[in-house]
Amino acid sequence: MQGSIWRIGALLPAAGVAPLGAHVLMIGTDGRIAAVTPCDPGELTEDEAALVAMPALANAHDHGRGLATLACGVQDAPLEHWMVDLSRQPRVDPYDTAVLALARLAGSGVAAVYHCHNTQSSAALLDEASAVSQAARDTGVRVAFGWPFFDANPLVYGDHAELASFFPPERRTAIATMDQALRPCATNMALFEQAAALEHETFALHYHPVAPQWARPDTLAAIAAASARTGRRVHTHLLETRLQREWADACFPQGFVPWLDEIGLLSSRLTVAHGVWLRPDELALLAARGVTLSVNISSNLRLRSGLPALGDIAACGVGLGLGLDGMALDDDADMLRELRLANLLMTQPRAGENGPVSLPDPAPALHAAWVGGRAAILGTADGGGQIAPGAPADVLLLDRRRIAWDWIDEGLPTDPAWLLARATRADVAHLLVAGRPVVRHGRVVGVDEAAIAARLVAQARATRAASPPDANAITQAHAATHAFYASGCHCRQP
Ligand SMILES: [Zn+2]
Repeated sequence: MQGSIWRIGALLPAAGVAPLGAHVLMIGTDGRIAAVTPCDPGELTEDEAALVAMPALANAHDHGRGLATLACGVQDAPLEHWMVDLSRQPRVDPYDTAVLALARLAGSGVAAVYHCHNTQSSAALLDEASAVSQAARDTGVRVAFGWPFFDANPLVYGDHAELASFFPPERRTAIATMDQALRPCATNMALFEQAAALEHETFALHYHPVAPQWARPDTLAAIAAASARTGRRVHTHLLETRLQREWADACFPQGFVPWLDEIGLLSSRLTVAHGVWLRPDELALLAARGVTLSVNISSNLRLRSGLPALGDIAACGVGLGLGLDGMALDDDADMLRELRLANLLMTQPRAGENGPVSLPDPAPALHAAWVGGRAAILGTADGGGQIAPGAPADVLLLDRRRIAWDWIDEGLPTDPAWLLARATRADVAHLLVAGRPVVRHGRVVGVDEAAIAARLVAQARATRAASPPDANAITQAHAATHAFYASGCHCRQP
């Protein structure tokens, strides 16, 4: 790889560090930052002076959906209802959907993403992983691939024989036995070993027990043991919704998160996503074990999961990352807007505080977007998330002219307050990952994003026309799952 030199009007070197003025960034041939030196702003062109450089963003929880759920007629709704609707999604090319998702994220300044894989076809998991691996290579975005372990509770949290009684008689046997089709842990572990051949510089496999309610207890324990043995990270959804909280409390009266600790799952190698319904003592336990929490604010709003207590979470000491979960607020994969939401929620007054409200400190939200989420994807030894000599050259360069069009002092603002208040993907000028230009002048370099998007939508429309979803079956499943939860069936101990 060739080295490069970037002249910039302003620099945000790291979370909690004061912004700096004009600098020259030198990127080495090893993909790391070679030097960061001040320069005379008078030497810069107008385009260079408009740039502010900062660490690239990390999206700590996502699913790689190039085709939006809304596009498939899956309306935003409470998670358990929404998941039934996901069967409306047509099967599409796994490479196109993955590469489009990565290109969109790159266009909003994301250099690294945690991709929790949802299979389109469980039988095709290896091929789908191969497609995501290729998409990571082609876009240059760093991808941690969460290899799904999904072997419990396919449709509801609880007894599927009981769920079957809410379905018409002709569907009851299939519903009651549907968990038998799920891939057992040992088979999945063997497949995981095969998939390790897909790893490359920007693509790594992680264990992804989809959630404690969607993996058997012995599977969770096996993954905890495998992670301790291999050092590979683990990523799981945790307590995203109220119904999951109710299920967990009923099934683990001795304490749900302490039980996860007992089986060895809680460690500095673990990331949990959502945590909307975590209690303070559980947050403290996660913090004590060095667990990272990825919060997904827009997703929680759209899927009516509730809001994570961001102020309490930021204060409890747990490692924190931000995730889009494929459900950005405006459905546009904009990580910069997610950063804005996180910063606003993290700096609101908290219950129990008195007197003047503290001045907002942007450092915790910036740390989550630059460092905390990155650790969930790449581990903690990577040295990224800062603009400093020796750090990986994962650099986001924003053009400040749109953001600060009405700034009345000379020059352009350097304070991150402007970035946090106004920046969107429209302001992304360039993105470097390991020094490689992934976005240049606002366009993704490695792939033709517009052509892929057009191809993907055309394919989805053709598939939809050829095999429309079974609306009647979906209506039945909605009615049955609603009745199951309304009757409290998820709160019965197995
Ligand atoms: Zn998710």
